[in-house]
Amino acid sequence: VNKWFEVSAYPSESGLTVYFRDVTERNKTQEAILQSNDRFKKVSEATNDAIWDWDIISDTLFWGEGFKTLFGHEMKENQSSSFLWSKNIHPDDLDDVLASLFDVLETNSTNKWEKEYRYLRSNGTYAFVIDRGMAIRDAEGKATRMVGAMTDITHRKEYEESLKILNENLEKQAKDLAISNAELEQFAYVASHDLQEPLRMVTSFLTRLENKYDAQLDEKAHQYIHFAVDGAKRMRQIILDLLQFSRVGRHEDDLEVIEVQEIVAEVVTLQKKIIEEKQANISIGDLPTLQTFRSPLLQIFHNLISNALKYTQEGRPSFISITCYSTNTHWQFSVEDNGIGIEPEYCDQIFIIFQRLHQKEEYGGTGIGLAIVKKIIDNMGGKIWVESVPGEGSAFYFTLPK
Ligand code: ADP
Repeated sequence: VNKWFEVSAYPSESGLTVYFRDVTERNKTQEAILQSNDRFKKVSEATNDAIWDWDIISDTLFWGEGFKTLFGHEMKENQSSSFLWSKNIHPDDLDDVLASLFDVLETNSTNKWEKEYRYLRSNGTYAFVIDRGMAIRDAEGKATRMVGAMTDITHRKEYEESLKILNENLEKQAKDLAISNAELEQFAYVASHDLQEPLRMVTSFLTRLENKYDAQLDEKAHQYIHFAVDGAKRMRQIILDLLQFSRVGRHEDDLEVIEVQEIVAEVVTLQKKIIEEKQANISIGDLPTLQTFRSPLLQIFHNLISNALKYTQEGRPSFISITCYSTNTHWQFSVEDNGIGIEPEYCDQIFIIFQRLHQKEEYGGTGIGLAIVKKIIDNMGGKIWVESVPGEGSAFYFTLPK
């Protein structure tokens, strides 16, 4: 009949009395309990958490394996009480933990309990844990049992702590940087104003000297005065350049949607005279629309195109091409020329302020242009570099994030 029976036999004078009792249901229940216990044991072994089961009425606590692996404590099954758990809680956290636990057990408004606290390991150090429990109540709503799990979150806490320290350091550095930037700007401003005044004096008195004593001065004297005035003029230009460099990154205008094509066209118009003089051919590819600041973008193209028009190879028609292509994250622009080119060893140096590769008699300039371009592009989160073959031409590439 596919059933379980419990059979009892009683001898009597006339024979034997035999009782058969159907115990199929009882056996099934026992089997289910065994399976369920086994499942619970396996789960508590498998997880990294310390699983616990607290019988509140008898104050007995069952601990999973995790309690030993996480904290190193030996716990005998069903021999521990809640005191053995609570005595390892960090003294500073204990009151708070117990208060929150009893709040859940006694108020009956929720069955869920969750708390973060420090828990003593067997080696004397404290682990950060998050403990979550679920209260089980009897028909009257009294909490009779609670099951839960402790998770070791020490790594997370330490990571959070190190992130916090890192953030604080970064904030401090950013603040220091802002202060030193402001100081530098102030310095450049004061220097440019205060230095210009004595410079003007030098130039104007030299010119007066020249005018007043014209007849007494020989040609050598005139030449010396000319050199001195020229030096003062160059110094003025350097001061103005420095001021301009220090101002890069301070946006006085607003973010705009800008057709790069228009910016390039504007630069080309501004350079019309030199383009005609040099009979330069300028080809402009498809250029994107960007949301950015107008004047720095204009400065970038102005400097790169001016250089392409300045450093041309004599006796060769000049070709300049401006293109852009799109990567996943950036726009990559290029300004290419067929000019004099740059020796590979100077390809980094030219982006440093006041670094030039030529005498001013050969090609005019102060060596500020590319430094400004680089500072603008760095500020915008892009990169600039040059690829060049001496005698054949240069290609300046720069990227801007989309
Ligand atoms: P400047 O033109 O005033 O010297 P820049 O910072 O614009 O200053 O350029 C720095 C140096 O880089 C120049 O002196 C020149 O030697 C070199 N350079 C820049 N652009 C080009 C170019 N298109 N072709 C060749 N050399 C260039």
